[in-house]
Amino acid sequence: MAEQNCLFCRILEGEIPAEVIYRDDRSVAFRDINAQAPVHVLIVPSEHIESLDEASQRDEALLGHLLRVAARIANEEGLTESGYRAVINTGEGAGQSVFHLHVHVLGGRPLNWPPG
Ligand code: AMP
Repeated sequence: MAEQNCLFCRILEGEIPAEVIYRDDRSVAFRDINAQAPVHVLIVPSEHIESLDEASQRDEALLGHLLRVAARIANEEGLTESGYRAVINTGEGAGQSVFHLHVHVLGGRPLNWPPG
């Protein structure tokens, strides 16, 4: 169910433009508007779920699917050799700014650990 005031729901509905690079029946992937690495893609479930914390047992298959899509995109973007990071910021304190669950895929530069 789309949420009216959700930025990513509006992107999914095509109301706000985005550089979509992948779409299937459960998810959409588009390039982050404020890329933090040469490759920075967001994988978003078509269904509105606020955060990882809001995902329930019923979402288990969907969560696995999002990670599989993340790996597929990393592969297509040429990151398999160099490595990449899949990140789910959860809650304001961890840097979540859009409250529609999403997986960041970052790569194409050295990624430090621990992250800030
Ligand atoms: P987070 O801070 O983990 O919630 O991630 C939200 C991400 O959405 C940030 O990296 C933003 O740069 C990105 N973002 C915000 N608005 C847009 C947009 N219109 N198109 C693509 N990415 C966006």
